[in-house]
Amino acid sequence: MAKAKVIAIGNHKGGVAKTTTTANLGAALVKSGKKVLLVDLDPQASLSTLFQKEISENNIYKAIKFECEAVPYEVRDNLFLIPSTLDLIGAESELADMLGRDTLVKDILKPFISKFDYILIDTPPALSLLTINGLVAADDMIITFLPEPLVLAGMVKILNTIDKIKSRLNPNLEILGLLPTLYKNVNVHADILDAIEYKYPGLLFKSRIRNSISLVNAQGDNQTIFEYDKDSNGAKDYYSFASEFIEKETQTGKPKGRKKKAVN
Ligand code: ADP
Ligand code: MG
Repeated sequence: MAKAKVIAIGNHKGGVAKTTTTANLGAALVKSGKKVLLVDLDPQASLSTLFQKEISENNIYKAIKFECEAVPYEVRDNLFLIPSTLDLIGAESELADMLGRDTLVKDILKPFISKFDYILIDTPPALSLLTINGLVAADDMIITFLPEPLVLAGMVKILNTIDKIKSRLNPNLEILGLLPTLYKNVNVHADILDAIEYKYPGLLFKSRIRNSISLVNAQGDNQTIFEYDKDSNGAKDYYSFASEFIEKETQTGKPKGRKKKAVN
């Protein structure tokens, strides 16, 4: 099997569909014949809750503390999860004193690189040590965001942080793209995406994840969107996003670094 590509899904804000995207991109990739490992790095453990694994014996918190091996649970055919737990809230302060504290997650994931096609890491809504661990372990990052006014200011912050992580901790890290979520067909959303495309040419995915109540309900029923309603907009959007993702991710001769364009 090919070497797994490790993708972190992130944004320092909460409520921007990081967890929803991790779960449903993962499920869509499985539908495309891939073997996928999801990693829940968020102490809120929403991804683990979705797959009903939030109180699992072998969780990432214990693995970080060297109290157990990380064991991926097969939550669906070909879809695996290393779960989180609410105890992970304590990990921040415990991590702070550990030797090699930035590479703990990267080390945990090493044995799985040869066993999966993709490893998707759901990161917490903060620039915490856990998030840094996710970004150090990753080859690529997907930033999910809501197309709201003020999003550009937030984007500048995230991209600056990623530049720092790239130069200090993980020169390999690339931003695969910016994914708009909870998208509505209204002028203000379209205008904001135009502004993002102008400021960061080539970074915005073509896919839009539309605002869809099915995605909320699926989560409530502990289902992926494909199980909950395969004909919903949510299922269509994540399926087409997965195709765009595979295409972008497998592009050969991927240019290193972002093109920057000055804005007046
Ligand atoms: P994050 O992980 O960034 O905090 P979540 O994935 O938990 O965000 O999503 C936040 C909330 O928004 C959840 O209640 C989720 O069900 C809902 N949600 C996610 N994507 C959509 C969407 N496309 N349309 C409507 N609601 C969504
Ligand atoms: Mg989340």
